[in-house]
Amino acid sequence: MSDYDFDLFVIGAGSGGVRSGRLAAQLGKKVGVAEESLPGGTCVVRGCVPKKFLVYGADFGGAIKDAQKYGWTVGETRFDWPVLRDSIQKEVARLSGIYSTILEKNGAEVFRERAEFVDEHTVRLATSGKTVTAETILIAVGGRPWAPEIPGIEHAIVSDDAFTLETLPERVLVIGGGYIACEFAGIYAGLGCKTTQVYRGGRLLNGFDAEVRDEAGVVQEQNGVSVKFNLSPTEIKKTSGGYIVTFDDGSKIGTDVVFMATGRKPHTKGLGLENAGVDVDEHGAVKVDKYSKTSQDNIYAVGDVTNRVNLTPVAIREGMAFIETVFKDNATAYDHTQIASAVFTRPPIGVVGVTESEARKMHGDDITVYTTHFRPMKNVLAEKPQKVFMKLITQGKQETVIGIHIVGDDSAEMIQPLGICVKAGLTKADFDATCAVHPTISEEIVTLKPREINKTTVVT
Ligand code: NDP
Repeated sequence: MSDYDFDLFVIGAGSGGVRSGRLAAQLGKKVGVAEESLPGGTCVVRGCVPKKFLVYGADFGGAIKDAQKYGWTVGETRFDWPVLRDSIQKEVARLSGIYSTILEKNGAEVFRERAEFVDEHTVRLATSGKTVTAETILIAVGGRPWAPEIPGIEHAIVSDDAFTLETLPERVLVIGGGYIACEFAGIYAGLGCKTTQVYRGGRLLNGFDAEVRDEAGVVQEQNGVSVKFNLSPTEIKKTSGGYIVTFDDGSKIGTDVVFMATGRKPHTKGLGLENAGVDVDEHGAVKVDKYSKTSQDNIYAVGDVTNRVNLTPVAIREGMAFIETVFKDNATAYDHTQIASAVFTRPPIGVVGVTESEARKMHGDDITVYTTHFRPMKNVLAEKPQKVFMKLITQGKQETVIGIHIVGDDSAEMIQPLGICVKAGLTKADFDATCAVHPTISEEIVTLKPREINKTTVVT
């Protein structure tokens, strides 16, 4: 019988925290969970879920136009932001309620307040002032948007604010070239805003395959996003009619909303980690070993707060591995390789495995690259220029598939089963032996031919 109030106390009811808390409670453990905001965390409340609804909303504008090419007569159309915003918020509230209920139904106690460490076994609940003790504590507090401290930064919004805007701006300026910047620039353009995306580098989506990064630029432009490269903001000034943003080359852009999508940081500030002997790295991320254990033996951390692979399903898997390790006597380290993911540009980007430059770094010339670029049949009748890009990278004589990258309609759906193929170590021969499903976009993945390039032409 433990001397502590709880067997497990979870700080943060996001994806990783809720899964861990529920599983521990289902094992009969006494579980407490603290959440200062709405249960569900970034993904459900101010991230993946409401964002995906916005993407669906943005896509309808183009679909209405395309419908006319398919014979539909379309009357007057207009977009009503409050309708979409409020429907999404209603669904977010419903889902958040489910997250809370799922914990409580399984016997966990949920504290709707902030928790901070007093020592390695004790946390203080900020609103009630109550202290509780736990044998094991899980830090699952996630991350928060971060923006550089330039003059006037207080005028900018971040992704947290984007879902509840009072009105839809006429002009939006999105700063950044990562996931959030690309997704939101695509959303705003689709909803009819005059959208500019400014990135400090020369190609969007740093870290992605070089050809995918080029395609991402094309996708944005085709959606009407004006993309400007090699510029960093230095100042935001409020004017009577909006904001003027100045850049490091002296140029200026006027806008109604400045959206800083310049990254996220682990949310460890003020958590009292120093009281519990939990070490953080230079970015404030909780340092963990492969079992998600921190520098303190009874304290673990999962999800974005550890800044490993910052994706919801990864936080969930880390949480499941933590439960196996701590409560099922089955030391389990989650494997962070070959994780499929999608960027919800319009159309989306689906990727799994290594990029071409990573493959070359690891295997030199012992790789084969297959690509195709084609206009999907739906766009032919719609008279739209958008093409699908596919790239498959294999390694060795046996041609094990080590990377797949797709830019195009339904790529986010395709990449999930393709992720199974890569994780399972399938070869190009396995793909070739699979009969195509016709007529689909995905059939191209089983008929790919090698890219006709000189092997020394490295795409970086
Ligand atoms: P990212 O790290 O993807 O992008 C941040 C962007 O901001 C980069 O383009 C970066 O440039 C730029 N930047 C950083 N600092 C500055 C600065 N001082 N001035 C100007 N630009 C700057 O972060 P996001 O916030 O977009 O997303 C955070 C994480 O959340 C992602 O990495 C991903 O793991 C996750 N996420 C996943 C999604 C999905 O799965 N669909 C959707 C949204 C988020 P540079 O590239 O040069 O560093």
